[in-house]
Amino acid sequence: MPSVRCSRRPSWALQAFLHGNGTWPRAPRARRAARTVLWRACTVAAPSSSTSGPMSRVHVHLVGFGLAGAAVAFHLLRQRASLHLPVTLSVVDEAGAAGGATRAAAGLLHAYSPRARKLWLGDEGLHCAREMFEAVTGAASRPFAQRTGIVKMASSAREQADYAAAAAAAATAELGWDAARQQLWIADGWTVDAVAYVEAVRRHLMQYATAFMVEWETRAVTDLSAEMQRAGQLAQRPLYDGARMPAPAQCIVVVAAGAGSKALLPSLPLRLCRGQNLVYAAAPGNGSYKRSGSDTSSPAIMARGKYLVPMPDGARIIGGATKEYAPGDLADGAAANAWLQAPADITVAREALEAPLRELVARWQNAHRTSASSSRASSEPIEAVAGVRALPPRRPEGSVPLIGQLRVPDAPASTSVLYITGLGSRGLVYHAVMGKRLVEQIVQLATTGADRHDTDIMSQAASRAP
Ligand SMILES: Cc1cc2nc3c(=O)[nH]c(=O)nc-3n(C[C@H](O)[C@H](O)[C@H](O)COP(=O)(O)OP(=O)(O)OC[C@H]3O[C@@H](n4cnc5c(N)ncnc54)[C@H](O)[C@@H]3O)c2cc1C
Repeated sequence: MPSVRCSRRPSWALQAFLHGNGTWPRAPRARRAARTVLWRACTVAAPSSSTSGPMSRVHVHLVGFGLAGAAVAFHLLRQRASLHLPVTLSVVDEAGAAGGATRAAAGLLHAYSPRARKLWLGDEGLHCAREMFEAVTGAASRPFAQRTGIVKMASSAREQADYAAAAAAAATAELGWDAARQQLWIADGWTVDAVAYVEAVRRHLMQYATAFMVEWETRAVTDLSAEMQRAGQLAQRPLYDGARMPAPAQCIVVVAAGAGSKALLPSLPLRLCRGQNLVYAAAPGNGSYKRSGSDTSSPAIMARGKYLVPMPDGARIIGGATKEYAPGDLADGAAANAWLQAPADITVAREALEAPLRELVARWQNAHRTSASSSRASSEPIEAVAGVRALPPRRPEGSVPLIGQLRVPDAPASTSVLYITGLGSRGLVYHAVMGKRLVEQIVQLATTGADRHDTDIMSQAASRAP
């Protein structure tokens, strides 16, 4: 398929259209003028492969709209100005949006490892996540993020030493160590309703639907080759009030399917770990949950890998989580699918979680000589939720997510395949910064035409880190 090059810089009118709010003018004359500008701005150049030079327009086809997919779409919308090219997006997700691990996430967001050390890219990740929160908050149907602070209760001599040392080394007030209660206070700790948040991102994007969004499909992708063909068709879809976009687009398929990425790109070194959480109703009369902003009177609490997390809507508390590793014999596609799709089993979740969660509440009450926290949750869970985490290999820097580009043998000439997965148990702190990095890669690919096949961007970045 021939690729195209811009014969000239887009005019001010086109720039305004591309970089503005992206809506097509309403008045017929203005429509005609804008269409002419768009057509003139791009002319077909000699046929070339996707890798031979810059393109004249870019179509991104996103497989998966959990935390990672949402971050890619958000940054694509935001960074399309740097492309100076028309950019379009299509999305396919088997759950519509916010399925997979996102649906089960407890909502803990902070920048620290279990030993209270700063995560690699932890500060940047938190900063980028907060930027996204602010940008999409107007599109949310319910409060989705709250800065509650997080309390980690030390359960061993090693944790006491780690937490005390981390607090002593931290910037003032960032971490606090309460030696009497054996508790570490993470001031910049957030609780996030991941489903409400991803849906807010989706609504935010839909505001730009006319000029940006080609299609949103709810279906499972089972065959990447077929999906590349589908992406190619979507890239040709008429846009802008029936006007066909000039010339074929460079197509970039982004696999952001969480644990589902393993079946689509089997060479990725992912390990799968299913997790279940119990959902409790917040006890009536608990007036301490504010609807938005900061409320540190009801922090999330953690000990021995278990947690209780108040949701920002004030109605639910999440208790979790189990860790159920994929059996070794998941090579068979049907067995793998059954394991990935298995619904939550509340009996299993209660057996695994209720005793440690009771212990967590008792420790909190003891330390604070209060029964307040027991009234945080009613004693019977309303439901259990399950999802599968996609764990990346451990590196010296920690669990570095996987983002990069793969050479796919039967990819059409003008199609590239990128991936973003392996966010492990840290999707909230990593999704926004990783989505931003992936879109930077898309911009580079589109503006220079330089394919970086078989590269894992984050591993390279981690190796270069001091
Ligand atoms: C029980 C549990 C608790 C967790 N708690 C936290 C927490 O407190 N804090 C935190 O930061 N992280 C937490 N995590 C991890 C977090 O949920 C993940 O890191 C994050 O959701 C990964 O995002 P993702 O978009 O890469 O994948 P996913 O969230 O799995 O999203 C993938 C999307 O792709 C879609 N999809 C998958 N396969 C296909 C396919 N073949 N075709 C079409 N669509 C497909 C799915 O429907 C889904 O919408 C938790 C995870 C679990 C399981």
